[in-house]
Amino acid sequence: MASQEKIMSFPHMGNYHIPIEFLIRHVLENIQVLTPPQITKKTLELGAKYSPDFVCVPFKYNLGNYLEALEQGANILVQSGGGCRFGYYGEIQEQILRDLGYEFEFISIIDNQNVNPLAFFNRFKRLNPQLSFVRFAYYFQLTFKMIEAMDSIDHYIRDHIGFALQEGSFELLHEEFLKELPAVDGFRSLDKIYRKYDALFRRQEVNKPENPLRVGIVGELYTLMEPFSSCYIEKELAKKGIQVTRFITISYLLRHHPKSSDLLEWAGNYLKYEIGADGTDSVARARMLAEAGYDGVIHIKPFGCTPEVNSMPMIQNISSDYKMPVLYFSFDAQTSETGVLTRLEAFHDMLMMRREKEQWQNVI
Ligand code: SF4
Repeated sequence: MASQEKIMSFPHMGNYHIPIEFLIRHVLENIQVLTPPQITKKTLELGAKYSPDFVCVPFKYNLGNYLEALEQGANILVQSGGGCRFGYYGEIQEQILRDLGYEFEFISIIDNQNVNPLAFFNRFKRLNPQLSFVRFAYYFQLTFKMIEAMDSIDHYIRDHIGFALQEGSFELLHEEFLKELPAVDGFRSLDKIYRKYDALFRRQEVNKPENPLRVGIVGELYTLMEPFSSCYIEKELAKKGIQVTRFITISYLLRHHPKSSDLLEWAGNYLKYEIGADGTDSVARARMLAEAGYDGVIHIKPFGCTPEVNSMPMIQNISSDYKMPVLYFSFDAQTSETGVLTRLEAFHDMLMMRREKEQWQNVI
């Protein structure tokens, strides 16, 4: 590969390909970056076809992304990391791709044991020996700010999109916001874009009732952050006029994640010990949502995700004690979108009936 042009690619997760591409473009100027094609059914079919049966669905999506990127000319693939068995998936994915005859470099930039900026710098420096720490630190922080800006806008959208007066207005504005991000050339320009869109979103006309239906979504991080993998569940809830709350985002995981002791305290008597990956978070947040009087919680996970399976009995106890309905979804390559929509419809009807019953009880 020495004389060949280097083309780097990485797996998708929501809209985070924008900051990832931004960082690679600015710190690895000697390498071209190729964002894989948007996830489609074909991506999942490809990934599932070559994955072992027992792996969870994020593995299959990532493998599909790698295959599509390799077909488009990528020759360096970035291994994704994760706090669970995902940390071991890279080696299997590499072997599968090599067995299929692809030639590429497989690199690990994310190390779950060592997430400090210096460790990141050393990995990037190996790929671009000309890279200075000052340049890296600048773009690393700027990328992180970009992620925070995206997450903050997303948070506002989740709160309000279900009540937009003009159909599609939030989606259109969101697309425009994302399109402007790659042109950011410093903190000031990022701040200007963020403020502009923050103001524009707040100016969007909404008809939000004083006490709207509120549903919290908890569960495993990939299915929470990659909308395709959960059949666009948040969008479907918004269509029904529901305010959606979700805690897990990249900025939450990297900078704003509560300490384990805090999560266990919020989980109260429902959980004594950590249960790995996002499981502890799911229990703690479900209880917080119940305490806050949410109408319901949706728990989502890839099929066979052990930490989330472990969290389910506790979430069920919270559900019974607080009389708060919980809907559970497991996603895999064969999940039927129609089945998901039907169950969501029934969940929504049930929440509406509970509200109506409460109103009658108050009148009587
Ligand atoms: S957290 Fe769940 S989905 Fe993610 S790697 Fe672990 S088992 Fe798989």
